[in-house]
Amino acid sequence: MTDQRQCIVVAPMHNEQSNVESFVNRLSDTACDGWELIAVDDGSQDETVSRLRETACHTSPNRLRIRLVSLSRNFGHQRALIAGLHVALRRADELGVDRIAVIDADLQDRPEHLADLLKASSGIDVAYAVRASRGESFLFQIAATTFYRMLARWAKSPVPENAGTFSVMSTRAVRTILENVDENVFFPGLRSWVGYEQVAVPLDRDGRVAGQSRVGIKGLVRLAVGALFGYSRLPLKLMVFISTGSLMLSIIAVIAMTALKLAGLVAVEGIPLVVVLIFFNLSVLAIFLTILAYMVGRNPSPVQARQLFVIGGETCLN
Ligand code: UDP
Ligand code: MG
Repeated sequence: MTDQRQCIVVAPMHNEQSNVESFVNRLSDTACDGWELIAVDDGSQDETVSRLRETACHTSPNRLRIRLVSLSRNFGHQRALIAGLHVALRRADELGVDRIAVIDADLQDRPEHLADLLKASSGIDVAYAVRASRGESFLFQIAATTFYRMLARWAKSPVPENAGTFSVMSTRAVRTILENVDENVFFPGLRSWVGYEQVAVPLDRDGRVAGQSRVGIKGLVRLAVGALFGYSRLPLKLMVFISTGSLMLSIIAVIAMTALKLAGLVAVEGIPLVVVLIFFNLSVLAIFLTILAYMVGRNPSPVQARQLFVIGGETCLN
């Protein structure tokens, strides 16, 4: 029988020197006996690791064991998360723990809320935070809301609106996630795809305590595009819509031109005729391209079968 209050917490960190100490302290204050933090250092170039080591020295391992997983370079938030989940799953099996949590280390997710998520996940597989309020800029909030609305509407398996990474999962959910992760990791999509019984817990989200968003607008756009392509059929639907639409328009134009000519009203010749024919040809081509895209989309190619991340080392810090 596994203890449902115990938990392995995965936190990716990239240049979080100003947040790491207070993150670990707040986490250890909220932790129950036997919790373990898997701190994934995603190629930080500042003092993150040394401050983590220092803080770990002052943290009782009975309260919170701290394990540092160092990636060999910066792989990005989503991949660092997946690397952490791999180690967390192994540790959960070793320790007989059934709950694994993921949380950002920048204190935007409040460590104190882990207790709420743990409680909500009791007896089911996933409890994830949906942002009740965001401590982010107005523009960012609009962009994020639009993105999540689009995903919620068009995703193959619905990705809940405003759900981020902050969540508590059962080990079987994590195992399924890791077995199905692909190159375009989008964790909230993957977690929702897994299924089982899931519950959304509305929680407030703070602004960044210190430093700048490490993901940045470019990273967010990349994530959004990856999520829309990986988890929705929107791009294909657009192709079908546009190509069949233009084919129908050109067929109507050809019929209208023929009718006009037969009725002896206007004889459409020269450039307008060429334009319509080109339009018709291009539309047929676009339809074939769409079919091809569908076929390629059904067979995920193993072209880029590279590892998603490289772990450089793993150390127990306290
Ligand atoms: N992070 C990471 N690798 C990166 C960028 C970010 O591990 O390349 C970590 C970061 O330290 C933080 C979490 O991922 O704990 C979320 O990053 P950030 O706050 O920059 O993302 P945002 O909240 O702006 O989406
Ligand atoms: Mg953040």
